[in-house]
Amino acid sequence: MSESAQCVFFPGSTIGVMGSGQLGRMLAIAGRRMGYRIHTFSPEKDTPTGQVADLEVSASYADEAAVRAFAKGVDVITFEFENIPVESVHWAAEHCVVRPAGSVLHICQHRLREKEFLRGGGFPVANFEAIETESQLRNAVEKIGVPSVLKTAAFGYDGKGQRKLLPSADLGEVWASMQGQKSVLEAWVPFEREISVIVARGVDGQTATYPVCENVHTNHILDVTMVPARIPLEVTSAAESLAVKVAHAIGLVGVLAVELFLLPSGEIVINELAPRPHNSGHFSFDACVTSQFEQQLRAVCGLPLGSTELLRPVAMANLLGDVWAKGEPDWLSVSSMAEIKLHLYGKAEARPGRKMGHLVAFGGTADLAAESVRKARAVLGRE
Ligand code: AMP
Repeated sequence: MSESAQCVFFPGSTIGVMGSGQLGRMLAIAGRRMGYRIHTFSPEKDTPTGQVADLEVSASYADEAAVRAFAKGVDVITFEFENIPVESVHWAAEHCVVRPAGSVLHICQHRLREKEFLRGGGFPVANFEAIETESQLRNAVEKIGVPSVLKTAAFGYDGKGQRKLLPSADLGEVWASMQGQKSVLEAWVPFEREISVIVARGVDGQTATYPVCENVHTNHILDVTMVPARIPLEVTSAAESLAVKVAHAIGLVGVLAVELFLLPSGEIVINELAPRPHNSGHFSFDACVTSQFEQQLRAVCGLPLGSTELLRPVAMANLLGDVWAKGEPDWLSVSSMAEIKLHLYGKAEARPGRKMGHLVAFGGTADLAAESVRKARAVLGRE
C-alpha cells in the first residue's frame, strides 16, 4: 500500500511488529496501554514481545506466505529489529502500511550503505573505506592509518564482527578472520564521550527529539545511560539538530537513534543509526512524558507526536546475563530500594552478555542517578 498521510490508525487498530525482542515488548506494552492490538512476527517462540502481544507468529522472515498472511492481519507494520530482509518488507507492503519504509531499513541494515548515505548527505562520519579483499584492506590501512576498526558491513551490533587494528596487526590474519565478509575499515575516533539522540518523525514530517543521552559502554555493549548528558548546551543543540536532519534526509516515519561520538574539540561524529527504539532510550519509559515506544506507535499510526519532556534526571543500567552469575539475583533487596524501577524482558536463559533487563534510577543530577543505578545493580548481582 502506498505511504499516505491519510493512513491514520486509531486505538483499536492492530499493529504488526517485525522482531520480537525487548524493544517490541516495550512497544507492545505502550500499545496495549493505549488500546491497540499487537501482533509480532519472528522465527522464535515465547519471545519478549510475544509474551505481551495478542498474537505471536513464529516463522522465518523468508517465508513469503507467512509474511503475507501476517501483513493481511494487521493495519500497520513497524520494526523493533532492522535486520529484516528488505524483500520480506516489500511482500508485507503489498497488504498493509509499513512504517518506516523498507528503504530506511535497507540503508540502516548495512554499515557501508549507511555510511555512504551519511557521507553523501554531508553528515559527519569517521573516514572509511569499503573492503572486499585483503589487498583492499592493505591499501585502506595505508590511507586511513591505525588505530582503526574493521567492521563487517552487515549484521553487526554491540561490537560483534569488529576488530580494532593496531600497528602490530597481522593484516593477513585479520582478513582471514573476517571469512570473506564485506567489511568497512573505519578511522579510530578518539572520543571524549559517546552520546545518542533519539528522534521521532511523523507522517507529516513533524519531529521531536529526546534529551541527549550519555552512554558508557563495556566490552562494546551499552552499560549505563545518563540523561541529561553532561555536555555543553551548544553540543546538545548541535546533536539534536543533526538527528532531526538525518530523520528528514532518510524519510523516517517512526523513531531513529543516532549514535554519536563527541570529540574533545566539541565536534560530533555519527557512529551509527538504528531506525527503531534504542537501548539508550529506555530511560524514557519511566522518565519522559512520552516514552520512545509510545512515540514510535504515535508516529507509525499517523498520530501527532507526544511531549519528550524529561521529568527528572535519570540513569539506566543494563542487566546482562552476568548479573545471574552468583545465582538468582537479589530481587528482594532491589525491591526495597523505593526509587529503582526494574524491567525484565521475560528471557528464560541468562547467558553472559545477553540483555535480560534493565534498572532505572532517578537523582538530583544524572551523575547521582548513575551512582544509584550502579549500586542497585551491584546489590542485585550480590556483588
Ligand atoms: P558499533 O557496534 O559500531 O556501535 O561499535 C560499538 C562500540 O565500539 C562503540 O559504541 C564504540 O565504543 C566503539 N567503536 C566503534 N567504532 C569506533 C571508532 N571508529 N572509534 C572508536 N571507537 C569505536
